[in-house]
Amino acid sequence: MKKVYVNELKNHIDEEISFSGFVDTIRDKKWVMFVILRDSTGKVQMTIEKSDENNQKLLEIMSTISVESTIKVKCKVVSNEAVKLGGIELIPSEIEVTSLALNLPFDYNNLDGVNLDTRLDYRWLDIRNEKNMLVRQIESTLTEGMREFLYKNNFTEIHSPKLIGTASESGSSVFEVKYFNDKAYLAQSPQFYKQMALAAGLDRVFEVGPVFRAENSNTNRHATEFTGFDLEFSYIDSYEDVMSLEEDLLIAGLTKVKEKYGEKIKEIFGTEVVIPTKPFPRMKLKDLYQEMHDKYGFDIPEHDIGDMNAEAEKLTFKIAQEKFNSEFMFITDYAATKRPFYHMRDENGVLQGYDLIWRGTEITSGAQREHRYEKLVENANEKGLKDDVKFYLQFFKYGCPPHGGFGIGLDRLTMLLLGLTIKETQFIFRGPNRLNP
Ligand code: ATP
Repeated sequence: MKKVYVNELKNHIDEEISFSGFVDTIRDKKWVMFVILRDSTGKVQMTIEKSDENNQKLLEIMSTISVESTIKVKCKVVSNEAVKLGGIELIPSEIEVTSLALNLPFDYNNLDGVNLDTRLDYRWLDIRNEKNMLVRQIESTLTEGMREFLYKNNFTEIHSPKLIGTASESGSSVFEVKYFNDKAYLAQSPQFYKQMALAAGLDRVFEVGPVFRAENSNTNRHATEFTGFDLEFSYIDSYEDVMSLEEDLLIAGLTKVKEKYGEKIKEIFGTEVVIPTKPFPRMKLKDLYQEMHDKYGFDIPEHDIGDMNAEAEKLTFKIAQEKFNSEFMFITDYAATKRPFYHMRDENGVLQGYDLIWRGTEITSGAQREHRYEKLVENANEKGLKDDVKFYLQFFKYGCPPHGGFGIGLDRLTMLLLGLTIKETQFIFRGPNRLNP
């Protein structure tokens, strides 16, 4: 018999079904034993009357097991208004113990005071906590909403290699790995391969996949491996087209999340899912600097001129809220020296790209890409990269549409949506001091 999930039980009233799940709680009363069972969709009560002769064997089995064990039961689904958990109870006729649990190292229902590192060591127990399980389910729904939007808009999903032969984009933050008798590197982004797909004529592509950064930074928003939600599309007129597509994509993802989890997010994470409206506000970097100076007396440090830093991102959120009543802000006109060589510049050298800040943290870098071979070579030379990116430059020699795209850090998106840190957000966190589990 196929397993019925808790959220499907209401469709099986008075039927004999098979139910499998974790034993969440056992309440052993004088006349009756209540067992709360749990699966990823919720909890349900199983009731065993002690006076019934036929139940003696079931009670014996239940007396041998601990909470968090898993069982499989053959049972009848009964409607009973007196039952607090959804007005439904399961009346078992057979119970099979499928896995016996030892005592847990901590109570996942009460994580206050449990060290985050201990939680991460036992991540599979940590995720049994309702809130932590919701993080996974919400991120999945967010991705689903964004994927649906892209499929509807004629994007093709691609999967590019993560083992690459050259440390291409910016040598310093790349992991080097042994590759037989040679060296390989872990991809810092799918950037070059997305563009290769457009040169192949695929028009519009996206990839959701792992991204590796050898950054020894212990912040609440950096990981050494995270999930990139990356896309690239052809025949754009300007990076405005890229920003516009990103607005639609985020609106689609957040709408899907709000429909399914809006209430739960408010109740459990204490935060509202706000669906932004188009267009998101935009500011040029130099105007933003001026505003931050005038309003908050903040001046960007010398070495970050032409770029942002964490504090500037926080202030950008304030400005976005106060000036535009928005949680989002696009920042444009970064210095070309601070950006990758493949971002397009106009005839005055102004960078045709942007960053998107949400709730005080960067979630995306995007741009129109330089697709003109000569210009691209010039930009690569300027950054001293010509030899490293030899293979990449080839894509632009045989016809390549004008195009642009962006990369969103999916973990960052989920983290900001729910008001968490990246360690709490990633399914399995990877940082400078964590390679396990
Ligand atoms: P930051 O300035 O925050 O370090 P970045 O400029 O290096 O980010 P990009 O290379 O533009 O970021 O990467 C695209 C997106 O990937 C970022 O906007 C961000 O959402 C996410 N991202 C970048 N680095 C990390 C990281 N170490 N951990 C998690 N997400 C990241």
